[in-house]
Amino acid sequence: MIANAKYISILGAGESGVGAALLAKKEGYRVFVSDLNQIKPEFKKELIDNEIKFEEGKHDFVRILASDFVIKSPGIPDKVLIIKELKDQGTPIISEIEFASWYTKATIVAITGSNGKTTTTVLTHHLLSRGGHDVGVAGNLGYSLARMVAQEDHDFLVVEVSSFQLDDIKDFKPHIAVIVNITPDHLDRYNYNMEEYIASKMRITLNQDEDDFFIYNLEDPILQKEVEKNNIKAKVLGFTTRDQPNEGAYINEENKIEITLNNHETMTIDELALQGRHNVHNSMAAALSAKLLKIRKESIRDSLANFDSLEHRLEPVLDIHGIEFVNDSKATNVNSTYFALESMRKPTIWIVGGVDKGNDYSQLSELVKDKVKAIVCLGSENAKIHAEFDGHIENIVETNSMDDAVKMAYQLGSKGETVLLSPACASFDLFQNYEDRGRQFKQAVRKL
Ligand code: ADP
Repeated sequence: MIANAKYISILGAGESGVGAALLAKKEGYRVFVSDLNQIKPEFKKELIDNEIKFEEGKHDFVRILASDFVIKSPGIPDKVLIIKELKDQGTPIISEIEFASWYTKATIVAITGSNGKTTTTVLTHHLLSRGGHDVGVAGNLGYSLARMVAQEDHDFLVVEVSSFQLDDIKDFKPHIAVIVNITPDHLDRYNYNMEEYIASKMRITLNQDEDDFFIYNLEDPILQKEVEKNNIKAKVLGFTTRDQPNEGAYINEENKIEITLNNHETMTIDELALQGRHNVHNSMAAALSAKLLKIRKESIRDSLANFDSLEHRLEPVLDIHGIEFVNDSKATNVNSTYFALESMRKPTIWIVGGVDKGNDYSQLSELVKDKVKAIVCLGSENAKIHAEFDGHIENIVETNSMDDAVKMAYQLGSKGETVLLSPACASFDLFQNYEDRGRQFKQAVRKL
């Protein structure tokens, strides 16, 4: 909390900026919202309806620099002029989750990671709500924490947080903090420096104390190193599909997930609705959080066995003449595609490509040799895909639209095989975003 602050500016009028504006207005601040781009009509309407002052297409420096503090949307990089000037004159800059956390007494479970944030967040919410807790879900997944705090009251909140949101926290203190994994992503925003990106993710535990919990992926070498540094005050619990940790979740001799807490309390889990090793990680993280928050074992088991896969994340689409189509459009980096390919049980026609964020496809080469029958490139930059897989995969074809990619994949496929869209790339060359890409894929499949 910043004492005696009355007048604040909010930079960025997307979901998090508008959520922050609604909460700030409710809490009695004088609020000014400023966005360098045009504001989406639905957000503009909300600002007008709530009598919140705003500007678009520009920043009124004088007005913004006069603020007692500023809330910065996660999409705005630190290097822009207005942020530099605010920093130079010492105006506090915070993120929307920091601001929202001042106005809620809810017990917070915060989840971050390079991949698996949304899945783990939604799954954790599912376990807590089916277990009988009064719980809300918010954050990076599209419904801002500030909006949630302004509009709903809950005992528990499960919050997906991105590294950008963690960059500008000061007092944000989750009772349970989860890091699903850390692999290279968004490095353009961190001076191409992995250490800065890691430090930003680790801020999730910055304000935790001995009564809080930090849950992490024991298989992740980066996280292992961070935990060994011993800077974490919270009680540390790990999850892994390999060796047994002292406390946490692992796979026992009967091939079941086993959870041990306080070195004596145990539970096993037989059945998961979500497939793939990455989803074992996500399920373990969610189950550990639920167990710590006193959800009954039977309820956790039942909820993990009954959960619909999320759209665009290894989402089954259709089976056409024995060829299965799977939409993993949300896979925008190599690591997420790695787990998608790993989870394939049938020969796979792999649709890949888009805007490459510096991909190293060699990490996929063993899996591709093992699982992939043909590659359909869909995107503008396919040279690296060819360089890595030419000579190993007989059929590598080029396409320029989703319709063509799907038709081509269908022609290359046979009964008992899978067509997987898992692009390992961003989507902005041919599509508006990953959702648009996934929807176009599903439409194209339905037209076959
Ligand atoms: P995020 O919110 O971090 O982007 P999502 O849950 O939306 O994560 O999943 C993004 C992509 O990563 C999907 O393709 C999904 O199948 C894959 N994925 C999900 N969980 C994991 C994980 N634990 N490790 C690696 N990849 C994952």
